[in-house]
This record gives sequence, structure tokens and C-alpha cells, in this order.
Amino acid sequence: MSTTRADKASEANPYAMALAQFHAAADRLGLDDGLRQVMATCKRELVVHFPVRMDDGSIRVFTGYRVQHNLARGPGKGGIRYHPAVDLDEVRALAMWMTWKTAVVNLPYGGAKGGVAVDPHQLSLQELENLTRRFATELSVLIGPQEDIPGPDMGTNAQVMAWMMDTISMHRGYTVPGVVTGKPVSIGGSQGRLEATGRGLFYIVQEVVAQRHLDRDGLTVAVQGFGNVGSVVAWLLHRAGYRIVALSDTAGGIYNGRGLDPDALWHHKRRGGRLIDAPVGDRISNDELLRLPVDVLIPAAVEGQLTSANAPAVQARIIVEGANGPTTPEADAILAEKGVLVVPDILANAGGVVVSYFEWVQDLQNFFWEEEEVNERLRQVMVRAFQQVARLAEAEGTTLREAAMLLAVQRVAEATRVRGIYP
Ligand code: NAD
Repeated sequence: MSTTRADKASEANPYAMALAQFHAAADRLGLDDGLRQVMATCKRELVVHFPVRMDDGSIRVFTGYRVQHNLARGPGKGGIRYHPAVDLDEVRALAMWMTWKTAVVNLPYGGAKGGVAVDPHQLSLQELENLTRRFATELSVLIGPQEDIPGPDMGTNAQVMAWMMDTISMHRGYTVPGVVTGKPVSIGGSQGRLEATGRGLFYIVQEVVAQRHLDRDGLTVAVQGFGNVGSVVAWLLHRAGYRIVALSDTAGGIYNGRGLDPDALWHHKRRGGRLIDAPVGDRISNDELLRLPVDVLIPAAVEGQLTSANAPAVQARIIVEGANGPTTPEADAILAEKGVLVVPDILANAGGVVVSYFEWVQDLQNFFWEEEEVNERLRQVMVRAFQQVARLAEAEGTTLREAAMLLAVQRVAEATRVRGIYP
């Protein structure tokens, strides 16, 4: 994929970038103009301005969004983001990416996303609850277990989901656990949901290693970002015999060629220590981590980390994207040219939404599974999706990212076409 002026302009606007990615897949699939218009457009967009009473008695008006991109394959699914930079175009792009992510792992969902322009760290717990309950009320015209199922995203968590579920349940007069996922287990959340994204990445790494007939004992791994996703994948890989040689967070990273113990480092962090102060390796910068001579690199922090500036120096043979959008289109082209295998975000980090789907299924059936069952089903979904994408990439001569988009767009196009146009 070459970089054009349009690509550069679109990088500033996530929706323009999402549209450009869609049209590239649509071109390759030869989608007709009508279908293309339907799939390039978000089906529903709700913008709400709502008042919240603050602790000091004052009233503040916040702006929130919920966008449903495409519902041809099932109800909307996608997180709620609380962040000051949330705007309509960002939510549209994230909704479209959820359509592709749920399609690539073949979940019976469409894509949706929501958010409020707010810095949740500036609110007290009471203010956060007031904001969440009022926002859930505003969303109640759109969300529901059969309509659209929010989950957590940046700035929201299991507590926020519990308030949303309780608010919708109060309106209906009975408990509606299936209206959101990512809830605490005590009110219908799923075992294994918290670790699901990191665990899904782990299954993908295992599958890549098996397909390439690599000996996993001693394979070296660097993980950027030591949060929910990065810590879980590092811990599982370490336990399975891989050598985790580098880990990092916002302050920087540590490197030890003989291997690090992610579990011990997690406890070090939990006790308030900084990763870079742990006396178990050499300090490195985040950029140095990305350029280490490792077998597997897992960017699991934030978007835009692998760029045209550092991609030429990347030495990893395999990159598995834990974060959303960690690789810019320019870096992607450079890595493909170098023969680096990149497992794209919409496939690699889909474990979270897969277990959200399991949570919803359990809520609808009021029948809850043991963690082993959740993990095994997650493994099956991730491995099958990876194999399908890898086969398509092989057949079409594309990268895994292009193949994942082709598979997803093809599935949504087929569902949209076969349902036809009403009336
Ligand atoms: P988190 O907040 O728990 O952890 C993020 C980690 O990245 C922290 O250790 C933080 O210190 C580190 N970090 C932040 N900025 C950094 C930087 N510039 N350089 C290096 N490290 C940095 O978040 P998370 O839930 O682990 O999510 C990580 C990524 O995975 C995000 O891109 C998120 O969108 C994506 N993701 C998460 C899930 C999920 O279920 N949590 C699902 C899909 C995708």
C-alpha cells in the first residue's frame, strides 16, 4: 500500500481513515456502488447534550454520542469511551472498526460505539455516577440486549457498566443484565472477561508459532504497555516458556536478555513501584523497545507507535497488535516490505469482544460458564479466525491486515445484500 497525500490528510481524521480502509477493501472485492454507499455510512448517530449536577451544586452540560455503523449481522456492539477528545467523527470511526472486528471473528453483531467528551479523572465518584446514569437514560432509546450492547472502553470500567445496567433495569422495572457487557461477575459479568484481550493475543502468538514450526522455548518477546492487555499476554507467554526480554509503560521500559518475570513485576507495580526502577534489567526507552532484536513484538499501549521513523529499524520477525492502531499506514508498508508478519489489531485484540459476546450469551440464558469453558471457547474462536485470515492472505497474496479487512467487509456485504432493502 503506497502512501498518498489523501492518506496523510486522513490520518488527522479517524473517520476519513476508516473510510479509506473500507474503500480499499471494497475496491478489491468489487462491491457495487449501492452496497458501498450503505456500508460507508453510519446507520444511526445519536448526539445528546445533558445536564449533570456536580458536587458543589452547580450544573454542567456534557455532550455524548452513540453511533451504530451497520446492524446487518446483529445488534450493535461497542464500548463507551470517556475522554475529553471524544467527538462525532471519532465515534463514527470506532463504530465502523467494531463492525469489522466483530465480523472478522464472526460474532453475530454489528458495530457501534459511544462516548462522552469528559475527563473522568476530574470527576468525583458521585459525579461520575450522576453522569453515567443520565447518559444511560439518554441512550435508552437505542440500547438494549437485542438492539445495541455497550461495553467498557477508555475511561470506563466495570463499575460504570454496573451503573448503566442498573439505570436501564430501573427504567424497565426488572433486571436487564444483557444490556451491557464488561460488568462485575456479581451482577452477570463473565469469568475471564478482564483477561480476555491478553489471552486472545496469547492464543494468536501460539498459533503463529505453530504455523511457522518455531520452537517456542526461548523465543524472545518484547511487550510495549504493561496494563490490562500487556501484563496478561506477558504473563501467559512467560508461563508457556517464552522469554519476555522487555516490558514498558509510559515512564519507559526495562530489558534483560536472560528474561524478566512479568508476575513479579506486576506485584512490584501494584506496590507502587515504577517498572523502570525494578532492579532486574537495564532501562530502555519505549522507542528502543520497539527496535529490539526479538522474535515477537507486542505493542499493547496506545495508537501510532510504529511509524515511518522507527519501522525501518524494527528487528522483530512477528508483530502482534494488542493496542488499537499501533502501526501507521506508512509503517505498515515498510514492515510488509521487510517481510515482518503483522497480525492486525482487528483480529489480534478481538479477545475482549469475543468474551463480551460470551457474557451476553450467558446473560440471555441465565446460565453461567466456568472460566475454563470461557477460555477454551475463546481459543477456538481466535484460532479459527486467524486461520481463515491467514488462508485468505495466502490465496490473495495480501498482508494479514488486508486479508482481515477483506474477510470482514465481505461478511458484512453478504449480510447486507441478502437482507435486501426494506420496504
Ligand atoms: P491500560 O490503560 O490498562 O494499559 C495501558 C498501558 O500502556 C499502561 O501500562 C500504560 O502505562 C502504557 N502506556 C500508555 N501510553 C504509553 C506510551 N506512550 N508508551 C508506552 N506505554 C504506554 O489499557 P489496556 O486496556 O491494557 O489497553 C491497551 C491497548 O489495548 C489500548 O490501545 C486499547 O485500546 C487496546 N485494547 C484493549 C482492550 C481491552 O479489553 N482492555 C481490547 C481491545 C483493545
